[in-house]
Parts: sequence; structure tokens; C-alpha cells
Amino acid sequence: MERKEEILELLERGYATAKELASYFDVSLMTIYRDLRELEEEGKIVRRYGRIELSRKHHLQEDEEKCAFCGKDVDNRFGFTYWLKGRRKLSTCCPHCGLLIYDSVEEKEIDVLLTKDFITCSPINAYEAWYVLGCNISPCCRPSAFAFGEKEHAESFAKGFSGAVMEFDEAKEKMKELMKRGQSVRFEL
Ligand SMILES: [Zn+2]
Ligand SMILES: [Zn+2]
Repeated sequence: MERKEEILELLERGYATAKELASYFDVSLMTIYRDLRELEEEGKIVRRYGRIELSRKHHLQEDEEKCAFCGKDVDNRFGFTYWLKGRRKLSTCCPHCGLLIYDSVEEKEIDVLLTKDFITCSPINAYEAWYVLGCNISPCCRPSAFAFGEKEHAESFAKGFSGAVMEFDEAKEKMKELMKRGQSVRFEL
């Protein structure tokens, strides 16, 4: 695959800076900047506050995605994405569905697991994210789960909406448990 093509794919996977791309390809920053300039001229990417993003046009297809677990439209603000071996992709609408579908996916098939930080909306590694469960609000599926890149963001969110902070494995188990209990949620956003 041509490097520029591959750059677009990496951006979709959550890469966002020239430095990350340069170290991925093991080339100089100058080389990456040249590729980026071309991609920018072709209208495929935009640069914002030092971060590189796919342009809207390039995102169109993604906007029409449905959650692989519940069938809802995938909202790019809090989607949870499984990149599987062989460049296959499985998207869910929010961390709630992302955590619940985990058991139906072959672990060894998972290449990258990405979710979005609830505050910044930027992609974060789902295995390393902090989750808040048991909140009294739910912007997507119930019971809700929120993901954060920073532990302290998760903690202050949990405090404000009476939830509990946990890591990936715990969140995954807890979500199954909550579903079994059929816990109801008091009100919605
Ligand atoms: Zn869903
Ligand atoms: Zn959802």
C-alpha cells in the first residue's frame, strides 16, 4: 500500500500527529510533512491545532455506520471501535455496547481497540481507558458507560454523576452484571 493510503488508515485508527506517523513509518518528519501537504491539497485531511484529522468528506461512510451490538447509529462522539486482523472493523455506538460485545469477539482477532474520550472526543486505547459506570445519566445506551483517557477526569465525572471508576476488565464484567440485574436508570440527558 502506498504510504499516503496507509496514513489515512492510521488517522482513522486514532493517530493524530506528524510525529506519531513519522515514528510509525520510521521516516523523517520532513517526509511525513510532504505526504501530509499532498493529502491536504487533495482535500483528504485537515490540520487543526497541531492535530491531523480526516476531512469530513472522507468520514462520510463512517457516519452511516450502525452499532454491531444494538443496531443504533454510531455516534462519532462516543463510538467504540474494534479493529480486527485483516483490516476488518467492528463499530459500536458507545462504551456500553463496546464492553458488552467483547465476549463475542475472538480476543486473538483484535488488533486495536479504540474508544473516544468523553471530554475531548479524541480516540483513546480502550484497554487503557478509565470507565465510569453506574451514573444517573445516559447519553446513549443504558446502563451507561463513559470512557476517559485521564483517571482524574473519570474521577471527577463519577463524583458529579454518582458513578464508579474502573479499568477495562472490571468495567467489562460490571456491565454484564448490571445487564443481568436489569438496573434501571433514574433520568436521561
Ligand atoms: Zn450499541
Ligand atoms: Zn450506545
